[in-house]
Amino acid sequence: MANHTVIASRVHAMANGSAFDSALPPLPSYTLEPRGDFFPWISDFWLSIFLPVVVYWVMSLFFHMIDIFDLFPQYRLHTPEEITRRNHATRYEVARDVIVQQIIQVATSAVLNLTEPIEVIGKTEHDIAVWATRLRLAQRALPGLLSFLGLNAAAISKSMSSTHPLLAGALAGGYYPFLTTSDSAEPSFAPWELTAAKLIYHLIVPGLQFSVAVVFLDSWQYFLHRLMHVNRWMYTKFHSRHHRLYVPYAFGALYNHPFEGFLLDTLGAGIAFKMTGMTVRQGTCFFTCSTMKTVDDHCGYHFPWDPLQLITSNNAAYHDIHHQTWGIKTNFSQPFFTFWDSVLGTKYIGPRTDRLADRERTEKMK
Ligand SMILES: [Zn+2]
Ligand SMILES: [Zn+2]
Repeated sequence: MANHTVIASRVHAMANGSAFDSALPPLPSYTLEPRGDFFPWISDFWLSIFLPVVVYWVMSLFFHMIDIFDLFPQYRLHTPEEITRRNHATRYEVARDVIVQQIIQVATSAVLNLTEPIEVIGKTEHDIAVWATRLRLAQRALPGLLSFLGLNAAAISKSMSSTHPLLAGALAGGYYPFLTTSDSAEPSFAPWELTAAKLIYHLIVPGLQFSVAVVFLDSWQYFLHRLMHVNRWMYTKFHSRHHRLYVPYAFGALYNHPFEGFLLDTLGAGIAFKMTGMTVRQGTCFFTCSTMKTVDDHCGYHFPWDPLQLITSNNAAYHDIHHQTWGIKTNFSQPFFTFWDSVLGTKYIGPRTDRLADRERTEKMK
C-alpha cells in the first residue's frame, strides 16, 4: 500500500515534469549493535539499580553531617532538641525501615530493567532523518495554511527565491530542488531541517518524556497520599508510620510502611518509566532525580543556596508543614511541584511562625 502511494505520487509528479521535486531525501542505512555501558567499571543495569540507593545515603550523610556538627543553625527548620523530643521513631528504626524499602525497590528495578528490550545503537542518524522527513512532510501543509490566511505562498516564495532560497523552499511546501547529495545527486535535507530534527531527537523528545514522567509521578503520589489521609484504615495501617517523624531529617525521606513505599515511590516511578518509553539510562536519571528531591524535601533545612529547593516551591520548608500536627491536612504534593495542592485547594495558607527559620525571619522583619 505504502509503495503504491509512493509510485502514484512520483507518477503524478512526473506528469508535472518534477519527479525529483516531490521525492523525499533517502533515509541513511544503519547497522545495529548492542549499547556499551556508560562506565567501564559498572554495567548500566547495576548502575540503574544502585545509583538511587547510593545517592540516597550519600546525600543523607551530607545532611546528617550538617546536622550533627550544627553547621548551619540559621537555616534549621527545627531545633536539634526537637528531633529527639517530638519524633516517635528512633534513628535506628528509621534506617532499618528505609533499608527494607530499598530492598523492595532494588528488586522492582531489576524486574523493570530485565523486561526492557536489549538496547542497541547505530540508528541515531537514521532516526534524526526520520524526524527531518516528518518536518519536510509538515511543510507540505504550509502553502494551504498560508492561502487560508489569504496569502499566496507560491508568489511569496518566488519573490524571495534568490535572496532567501531556504525560506522560499519551506514556504513553497518543502521544495528544495537545489539541494542534492554530492555523490549520488539524490535529494537531501536543508541544513535547518537537520538541525531542527537533531534538536527534536536529542532535546525535545527526552524533555517531553521527562516532563510527562514528572507530571505522572506527582499526580500518582498526590492522590494516593491524600487517600491515605482521608481513609482512616489506610492512614493507621500504612501512612501513620511516615508521620512518626514530626521533625523530618534527610534519611527519614523513605521511612514508610513497606507497602506504602512500594506503592507510592517504587511503583509510581516504575510506571512513569515504562509509560514514557525511557531508555535504562534515562530511567536511571529520573529515579535518581526523584530520590534526590525526596531526600532534600526531608532535610530539615531551608537553604537559600540549595538548587533543589529553588527549582520549585515544593521544598523542605513546604513539606515540613505536612509533617506538623497543624499542617498535616495540607501540602500533600510530592515530590516535584505544588500543582495539585494549588488546584485542589490543599495548600497551607496560614502563618508558619512556629518554625525556627521563620520565627527568626519574622523577627528580623520587625
Ligand atoms: Zn502524609
Ligand atoms: Zn514526608
